[in-house]
Amino acid sequence: MSAPLSQLKGPIRALFSDVDGTMTTQGRVEGITYVALERLGEAGIPVVLVTGRPAGWGQAFMTVAPVAAVVTENGGVTWVRHGKHLKKLYGVPPASLPEWRRKMNILVNDINAKVPGAQLSLDSRYREVDLAIDWNEEASLSRDEAEEVVQLARKAGFTASRSSVHVNFGPPHFDKLSACLAVLTQVLDGDPAELAPYVFVGDALNDAPMFGGFPTSVGVANVKTWWDELDAKPAYLTEQPEGAGLREVIDHVLSLR
Ligand SMILES: [Mg+2]
Repeated sequence: MSAPLSQLKGPIRALFSDVDGTMTTQGRVEGITYVALERLGEAGIPVVLVTGRPAGWGQAFMTVAPVAAVVTENGGVTWVRHGKHLKKLYGVPPASLPEWRRKMNILVNDINAKVPGAQLSLDSRYREVDLAIDWNEEASLSRDEAEEVVQLARKAGFTASRSSVHVNFGPPHFDKLSACLAVLTQVLDGDPAELAPYVFVGDALNDAPMFGGFPTSVGVANVKTWWDELDAKPAYLTEQPEGAGLREVIDHVLSLR
């Protein structure tokens, strides 16, 4: 069972945060959440975003937001800084991507035929490694229909997982946890054997690998929406949902210094 956030002990060296449903509130980043992230960075605690959103979003976040690195496409593409330049780390060999994309497009046609209303997400155009079927953003499929999409993708040999808005699928095998460990060693000079000082915050099923892999993992309160379906549960829970929950974590982390 998860413990209340107040029991989380510090000090914390960096914050890894999911975006949709964790950094956002009702789909938007509130001004006070952005300020909280800035305060954390100013206190010397880097922020790493970890999202299923496309590589294109990662470049935007790296360019305009106070973040040290961005893991996008659930670990498919990770943005880091290399001197003053941005650099991408891929979760699968980049040379294999055109052939995978061809197979993925075939699956999209298959899904369209089998699950009425399933459509490619608007942001799929800006993806490099995975694609996303929209179930809960522009589209409104049931959870069962979304799960059917996950199963169709897995049956066809793809990695697939469901976020609060999309079903993401792509070539086997990449994941958020491996990408975060790469950020930990390459950007934060951390040791993957010593994960306790690094906190991860998330809200949905596609965060399960992080809840399982980061001992100091936190679920914002809305994670309870999918509680029984979560393969791995967060170690701690906030009282508030979404952005307010992330701000609870940031306030707590700052109080531990
Ligand atoms: Mg999320």
